[in-house]
Amino acid sequence: MTLSPVFVDRLRSIVGPEQLVTAPARLQHDSRDYYWFSPVLKPLLDDKAAELIVRPQSVEQLVAVVAAAAAERVPITPQGAATGNYGQGIPMRGGLILSTRHLTRIVELTPAAARVEAGVILKTIENEARAIGAELRFFPSTLLTATAGGFLAGGSGGIGSVTWGTLWDPGNVLGVIVVTVEERPRLLTISDPQEMQGVIHNCGLTCIIADLTLALAPAQPWQQYVVAFDSFESGLRFGESLAYDDDLPKRLVTLLEWPIPSYFRQLVRDNACPDGKALALLHLTLDEAEVAARAAPFGGQITWRSPPSAYLRSDWQLSDFSWNHTTLWALKSDPQLTYLQDQFDPQRVHEQLRLRKERYGDDILEHIEFMKFRGKMYPQGLSLVRFRSPQHLQELMDFCESIGIWMANPHTHFLDEDVRWNGQPILDARRRWDPHGLLNPGHLRSLEEK
Ligand SMILES: Cc1cc2nc3c(=O)[nH]c(=O)nc-3n(C[C@H](O)[C@H](O)[C@H](O)COP(=O)(O)OP(=O)(O)OC[C@H]3O[C@@H](n4cnc5c(N)ncnc54)[C@H](O)[C@@H]3O)c2cc1C
Repeated sequence: MTLSPVFVDRLRSIVGPEQLVTAPARLQHDSRDYYWFSPVLKPLLDDKAAELIVRPQSVEQLVAVVAAAAAERVPITPQGAATGNYGQGIPMRGGLILSTRHLTRIVELTPAAARVEAGVILKTIENEARAIGAELRFFPSTLLTATAGGFLAGGSGGIGSVTWGTLWDPGNVLGVIVVTVEERPRLLTISDPQEMQGVIHNCGLTCIIADLTLALAPAQPWQQYVVAFDSFESGLRFGESLAYDDDLPKRLVTLLEWPIPSYFRQLVRDNACPDGKALALLHLTLDEAEVAARAAPFGGQITWRSPPSAYLRSDWQLSDFSWNHTTLWALKSDPQLTYLQDQFDPQRVHEQLRLRKERYGDDILEHIEFMKFRGKMYPQGLSLVRFRSPQHLQELMDFCESIGIWMANPHTHFLDEDVRWNGQPILDARRRWDPHGLLNPGHLRSLEEK
């Protein structure tokens, strides 16, 4: 669609000229997220761009922009820091990108909860919370860049999920204020868990999140450790011994098959990644002797550690190599790699890994994050895969499913093709809050085919 000059002038008068992006090169650049992690999505989404980016500086401006766009029936793609990793924030039909990253007010902070506007960067919340003895329950490895609203709308879990679970787990997200997409937008306050299902991981399809309240945890003196193992299997068994110990405070239990550790420049430089060894990356409160004693039965050796005094204060943290940052480092070293988001059966994980290895060999490199989901601990994979063709990738995913590995497909931008898709609550919320279907169109296969 082509935006009318009158409409653009209207938005300019709401947010001011410096908060509109109109230059085509900037629009192309700023419309992108990390869809290029997927060689399947890359050619499909490379040329997609918004016609205008609008950056309201307050909730009042946001509401006025939404009212104007709804009256003109202009598509709206909400955007935080654009770190989504499967194209969920790419404007498929032009229109506006509505950035919420300039809504940066911390509304209220107590040791129990942080109420923030959508654009507050997660690292800011973590820093402010630590100053009063609290910390985020969990955060994505994009801590330094991702916005709170973007995480709620586009993320799932991360560092801390080994203890606290995901965005869907009760008690983690306490409330939200959302803006509906109508000529007269409504500001709705939502705390009912059922209604919240239309907001969590909505990928910008149901409403615009203006403000959210995240539950916090008591801050811990986290020590960071790298432990090396002769095999991925023994590293994984060590990881299990930590993950399933309910009394053990833990924020990160990551397992990586060799040669993944060789992709981590800073850790290699610090001699933390012996050749050929699998690694565990850990955030624990145990001291060095306790970690060494727990690793010894599995043949593990500590190769690197960092004390609580350096936590979140140095240039990089161990978590910068975990979750989907592992994928980022791998792609920088070897552009032929891509990834899967897979979840193993806790009872069958060793068998599932063996079957997959027998069939695909070094085409697959194992990366496991331990994570709770709805109260149960899972070995969650962010496995790396050598990309050969879309057909080969699909065949591999089908094989994984055939042996009971649960796959979330990061190679489709159609959100209803992903098993994390929270079907009916999202469609219901979209109908109620976005009656003209203007939000982030083009990302639901079921609507495309109507
Ligand atoms: C290297 C890397 C590592 C990552 N690690 C993790 C991880 O550990 N865990 C994890 O869960 N994710 C991870 N991700 C995915 C992503 O970074 C996170 O989900 C992140 O929190 C998204 O925040 P954002 O501000 O960048 O949102 P964006 O990418 O800007 O938006 C994400 C989605 O939410 C929508 N949206 C954004 N803001 C709003 C709003 N205010 N209202 C309504 N909808 C909105 C967008 O339209 C889009 O669909 C990773 C991605 C990368 C590239």
